[in-house]
Amino acid sequence: MGRVPAVSKAANLLGPATTPPRATHRPEHTFAFSVRFEWQIRGVDREELARLVALGYTQRAIAVELGCVQTTVRYWLRRWGLKTQPTLAIDDGRGARDAGITERELDCKKHGRARFVLDTQGCYRCAKCRADRVATRRRQIKEILVTEAGGRCVLCGYDRHVAALHFHHRDPAAKRFGLGAGGLTRSLASARAEAAKCDLLCSNCHAEVEVGFAALPPDADCA
Ligand SMILES: [Zn+2]
Ligand SMILES: [Zn+2]
Repeated sequence: MGRVPAVSKAANLLGPATTPPRATHRPEHTFAFSVRFEWQIRGVDREELARLVALGYTQRAIAVELGCVQTTVRYWLRRWGLKTQPTLAIDDGRGARDAGITERELDCKKHGRARFVLDTQGCYRCAKCRADRVATRRRQIKEILVTEAGGRCVLCGYDRHVAALHFHHRDPAAKRFGLGAGGLTRSLASARAEAAKCDLLCSNCHAEVEVGFAALPPDADCA
């Protein structure tokens, strides 16, 4: 408890002239000072701190979560007799896994501090990296399928970008799944089997075909 009056005294000594309550200049300095001050007065709730520790948060992550500095976190951890799990957070996920923690904050080489999700093999993986991999794979599969389908719209010959090329099912009854983003997460073999039932159309021609304004060329109907 000795710390609290010491800080108040320091704040009083600085006076209103040097630390105006809503100073807009030197915002970083003012922010760090006022936050530390506020947390030491109000304290950090033990339950909240224990919850973050149980989630495997590091001191740094707790500071970010609570919006205070690491020194404050260290002080309250000591005060409440809590310990973060440094080894667990850095390289050993077994403890967290066994505790049934499916998501935690860890450092990703590419994305920095990020949300990691427990995968089916029991490893924590960066959610952003996983989303990137899925997007890359979809793009690759689409590029393969588009190339195999001739690389251009069967009606107008458009071939500038794969994003504007669609797979249109010749026989809607034979359709197992669409080859939009969702369909492209399947295996290449099954996506290929589906693409074989389709004609490649650009966005414009696809829209025209769907409303019956344009007709598919007869030689495309070879199924
Ligand atoms: Zn990442
Ligand atoms: Zn077209």
